[in-house]
Formats: sequence, C-alpha cells, structure tokens
Amino acid sequence: MEIHSHTGGPVATNGYIVADQRTGHAAIIDAPHGVAAPLLAIAARRKWTVKYLLLTHGHWDHTADHQLITDAFPAARVLIHRLDEPKLTQPGSAMFPIPFVIPSRKADAYLEDNAEVSLGDGKLVVMFTPGHAPGHVCLYSAADSVLFAGDLLFAQSIGRTDLPDSNPRDMQTSLQRVMHLPDETLVYSGHGPSTTIGRERQINPWLQSR
Ligand SMILES: [Zn+2]
Ligand SMILES: [Zn+2]
Repeated sequence: MEIHSHTGGPVATNGYIVADQRTGHAAIIDAPHGVAAPLLAIAARRKWTVKYLLLTHGHWDHTADHQLITDAFPAARVLIHRLDEPKLTQPGSAMFPIPFVIPSRKADAYLEDNAEVSLGDGKLVVMFTPGHAPGHVCLYSAADSVLFAGDLLFAQSIGRTDLPDSNPRDMQTSLQRVMHLPDETLVYSGHGPSTTIGRERQINPWLQSR
C-alpha cells in the first residue's frame, strides 16, 4: 500500500492517506485541521477513491476536518470505535478553546477489535487500544508491516493519560499489546515523527522496566 502523511492544526496532528495501488481504493486515517485538503489533493492527483475515514479516536485534533472528506467523497464511510463516538456527535474540548467549529456527525459504522478494513488487495486490522481515550484504536497492516498508532505510542513518548476520558491502567495493557508486534513494524503516530516498534522497545523511556 502507498502511504502519505500531512501535519496540521493547533497541536500539530498527523493525518494519513493509505491506498491500494492496483484498485486505487484509499482510506484517510484521522482528519486534523488543515490536513484533509492536502490529503484529498494527493487522492485527486492519483485518481484514488477515498472509501473510509478511519478515526483512531474522537479527540477534536483528530476529527476536525471530517466533513471536508465526506464532502469530497460522499460515499466515504466514517468509522470510529463506539466508545469514542460521543466525541464525534458532540465535538469540542473542555480543556482547550478550539479556534474553529467542528461539525457534529454520527459514525457510519464502528471499528471493532480485530475487524478488518479492506482496501482493494490490502487490509488494515483494527486493534482496540484504550487508555488515552476509551475508544482508541490502532490500525495494523501485517503485509506492509505498518502500525497507525494514533495517540497510543509516539517516538520516544506515549499518549497522555491525564485527560478526563483517559485510563492509565488500560494504557499499559494497550502498549504491551502493540509492543508484541515485530520489531521492524513502522509506527505512524498521531503526533511527531515515525518510528519502529523495535526502536521504541530499545529507547522509549515510557516502555522501560515494564
Ligand atoms: Zn488524543
Ligand atoms: Zn492527538
């Protein structure tokens, strides 16, 4: 699969577009503010069809541009874990004054643990990874050896667990789960640069002595 990323919004959030080259079927993973347009431009240039917007979780910095994607591809389905859907139907933040309006919407379907999202010849497997948010998921492709980690795991850091909807104990379980993936797995996070599971296993201070 072919993967591109773009970063935008007040807290520099990463969004991704991933496509099966043979069929041109694509998914956008997260929709940070200012990120949908450049990702949609990539899809237009390559004549891809965006089939899905897959949301790793419902925090506003990952959902802001969702309507731009469904405006461009009305048949695209917006998927999120059911435990994070309330933040999509009632977007906002009690902690951060968001400098723009995020439209409310419901999910078209839910991302369930171990479910597969097909993109032509490729697929992404849903890994339910609560902790940072109750309905947080990662998306994993074994064939491409890539993990879209959302706000679970970052290069040399991990997602916050001091938010009102966080659970530090769940976070540890979720981190242990993804650390079982092969060392060479590329990690594309919701914030910051990409990394690998093996590199984080060695140098991530939040994963040591566990
Ligand atoms: Zn988040
Ligand atoms: Zn985030």
